[in-house]
Amino acid sequence: MENIRNFCIISHIDHGKSTLADRFLEETLTVPKAKMREQFLDSMELERERGITIKMQPVHMEYKGFILNLIDTPGHVDFSYEVSRSLAAVEGVILLVDGTKGIQAQTLANLELAKGQNLKIIPAINKIDLPQVRVEETRKSLSQLLEISPEEIFLISAKQGKGIKELLEEVIKEIPSPKGKENDPFRALIFDSKYDSYKGIIAYVRVVDGQISSSEKIYLLQAEVTAEVRELGFFRPELQPCKILKTGEIGYLATGIKEPGKVRVGETITLKDKARAVGTLPGYREPKPVVFTSIYPENADDFDDLKEALFKLKLNDASFTFEAVAREALGRGFHCGFLGSLHAEIISARLNREFGLDLIISTPSVVFKIINQKDKEVDIFSAIDWPEETQIKEVREPWVKLEVMTPLQYLGRILEILEDLEGKALGTQYFGQDKVLLIYEVPLKGIITGFYDNLKSVSQGYASMNYEMIDWRSGDLLKMEILIAGEKEEAFSKIVYRNKALKEGRKMVEKLKEALPQQLFTVALQAQIGGKIIARETIGAKRRDVIAPLYGGDYTRKKKLLEKQKKGKKELKEKGKVRIPPQVFLDVFRG
Ligand code: GDP
Ligand code: MG
Repeated sequence: MENIRNFCIISHIDHGKSTLADRFLEETLTVPKAKMREQFLDSMELERERGITIKMQPVHMEYKGFILNLIDTPGHVDFSYEVSRSLAAVEGVILLVDGTKGIQAQTLANLELAKGQNLKIIPAINKIDLPQVRVEETRKSLSQLLEISPEEIFLISAKQGKGIKELLEEVIKEIPSPKGKENDPFRALIFDSKYDSYKGIIAYVRVVDGQISSSEKIYLLQAEVTAEVRELGFFRPELQPCKILKTGEIGYLATGIKEPGKVRVGETITLKDKARAVGTLPGYREPKPVVFTSIYPENADDFDDLKEALFKLKLNDASFTFEAVAREALGRGFHCGFLGSLHAEIISARLNREFGLDLIISTPSVVFKIINQKDKEVDIFSAIDWPEETQIKEVREPWVKLEVMTPLQYLGRILEILEDLEGKALGTQYFGQDKVLLIYEVPLKGIITGFYDNLKSVSQGYASMNYEMIDWRSGDLLKMEILIAGEKEEAFSKIVYRNKALKEGRKMVEKLKEALPQQLFTVALQAQIGGKIIARETIGAKRRDVIAPLYGGDYTRKKKLLEKQKKGKKELKEKGKVRIPPQVFLDVFRG
């Protein structure tokens, strides 16, 4: 146990966590050179395509007689539940800061999480190979933040492999070895899980006390379920079976259990015949979804497949919620809750990729509390359920504390977009010479779609944000509906502020015009409020080139064909139903 070190790399998104993990994998010869590729631990197709880490990824490395268990974590605010779970399985962290960007909003948020767990923090400044790196400045502000001397901060280039060995030595020297009771009955914390159709649910565990060997009988304390260990092993990072998992180690345990509800993250596992002797470990605070969408299968027959897919995905991401709903216009589907709109987008994309489902997804929305005329409070999760205007006495919406970190040079543009949120400025805090943290109270609704991208684009990527829920406040809100070729498309319905309705309506039809493919007939796109059209766009008809294959001359045939096409168009127009490809929903909601 003295030779085990468990640690995470934490930072703001894109500061180089996964790249640093690559260098560690090389340095420790965990992955053979021939197999190495950039951001090796980002193994999901979606992660590779987008260049971001979505899931935490543990890996077991061996180095100079030590066992180093590293967990690479995501950096985006929507995935901080992954970070907090990873932190509960380790004794220390490397806090990485991109030297060209300096401290960012998520640097602060993740640092707070690590401090909250009393973890050893090893600070490092990354990307020192870049010409625009500002080492001294970043060093100074980071040393102030951590209350340490600037010399204690490591300077590295994860890309070029500079300073990697030194950092690894520091991990061994400074991060405490795990402290468990080796002779006590086996007790482990489940910090993640995934579904395997052969081995059943695979629990990712941190062994706290005792040890376990394969084919022992296990017991899940909270779920009160007994199972048999089908397989034990380490992450290399692929699953590599072993015979025993000992105190302080991080590994996996295949349970053979196929029913999704039974193995939950935060659960304590022990041995069946020792179940009475051990207490439950502190689990995790369940994350609260703040963004909701409804998801319907495009093909109604896929409802059961969608349900199964959601259950399986939930095993790999416990932070989203779902509940079956049935709507006249859209059929049977699910109401889903997420930690943010990127999270919603990622889960939708995973349903499509990993389970081959084509989906209709409603506009992401926050929860509204409606006080009706009888003074009863109802939670509204979707614009589809919005009551008639006459039924509503008051609408309340969630507000958050928003922190935006920006270099001073972009302050003007940032203040403009913050102004637009119609929130309240609470204060500012300076970091180093040219960085400022703006603290606001704003309606959550204003930041769930588009805001983040906006912030990035006005600051050339240098500004960053973080937010947390505070309370519910009154708002002047109403429902906007979208008509496509005269038919109401409920999935596009949206709750908007009265004073911004016109602008929102125009924006929505313009976006739809861009995203929808042309049809063989003209398609009208309209936004309406209370039955009144407030915005309109038209998509021109696609002209099928029916005469192209004919040589010139044969005029009558040409004419005949054109006539026929005209007739075809008329028929289509009468049927007039536009098929909306699933990608359009995602494109339109991206803000
Ligand atoms: P993560 O989001 O923190 O995991 O960051 P990644 O490891 O995915 O890296 C984000 C981007 O920064 C990638 O394009 C990397 O190639 C780049 N990067 C990471 N470390 C360095 C470095 O030391 N120097 C340079 N120049 N680029 C780096
Ligand atoms: Mg990463």
